[in-house]
Amino acid sequence: MKLRFHLYTLELRHAFTIATSSRTTTPAMLLELEHDGITGHGEASMPPYLGETQASAAAFFARAETLLAPCRDPFLLEEILPAIDALAPGNTAAKASIDIALHDWVGKKLAAPWHRLWGLDRAKVPLTSYTIGIDTPEMVRKKTEEAGAYRILKVKLGRGAAADRTLIETIREVTDKPISVDANQGWNEREQALEMIEWLAERGVIFIEQPLPKERLEDTAWLCERTPLPLIADESVQRLGDVAKAAGLFHGINIKLMKCTGLREAHRMITVARAFGLKVMLGCMTETSCAISAAAQLSPLVDWADLDGALLIANDPFRGATVEDGKVMPSDAPGIGVKKIRAK
Ligand code: MG
Repeated sequence: MKLRFHLYTLELRHAFTIATSSRTTTPAMLLELEHDGITGHGEASMPPYLGETQASAAAFFARAETLLAPCRDPFLLEEILPAIDALAPGNTAAKASIDIALHDWVGKKLAAPWHRLWGLDRAKVPLTSYTIGIDTPEMVRKKTEEAGAYRILKVKLGRGAAADRTLIETIREVTDKPISVDANQGWNEREQALEMIEWLAERGVIFIEQPLPKERLEDTAWLCERTPLPLIADESVQRLGDVAKAAGLFHGINIKLMKCTGLREAHRMITVARAFGLKVMLGCMTETSCAISAAAQLSPLVDWADLDGALLIANDPFRGATVEDGKVMPSDAPGIGVKKIRAK
């Protein structure tokens, strides 16, 4: 199997600001795996705060090539992907790009999209939320109006109670759509977090992602018992082995391909989460339509989708999943259902 990759920089439509950072681009890697005349597409999106870089991904691909080059049977996902995972710790986005490309290859070879291979019903794709980043009231109003096609808004909070309340009130001047809140670990005191959640519950907020720092387990459990809104783990849950730990601390988990190494593990995480009675949200980084379309294939299995990553970038080189009636619908084309539209 031939492995090719190139560096790609995602240009964001708006500066993306969360409680801990702000940026206008996201470094990425676009990967192609070719075998038997078929090319599978994959992508690694690497927001800097997660620690991977284009250089670390290139180094990881060089190691992965020693496994993939001699591979004659890309159908052996259960052999190949654990071996890729075992090459080095971390590197979850680089691993995800290989997982996505292999899934794309297999689906293309079988001439079927993955939602069909998994036996999923496209009618069960949930609504996707559209992220309104932290910004000035004027820009928040503009972004909220831009989100016209989406029926759930997602808001990043965690800059202090006054700023957080202003942001919510600004959005409520423009729309009464349901809002999901992501605090990105930005609230420090559990009592203040509870007070804020109670305030948000009265303003049409539907759930809260990662209210407290991920290491604050006791405070999170305290909050989980009292909160009027579901709490969803994001930073606290990266991979399969973290799912069981979330039970009792959270009501649900946010799964992202870039942090869990891809579709194979994401599918298992959903199964384990359900066994613990947890809700599941499927999220993303800023990503092209390649990784978003891969995630969309899984989305009939989850309660909430947050797959707006490709909508937030200005230079998407792929066409794939499409927005229909506020949902990011997986394509019926084979594999992950993407076409490259920009040569590079
Ligand atoms: Mg989050």
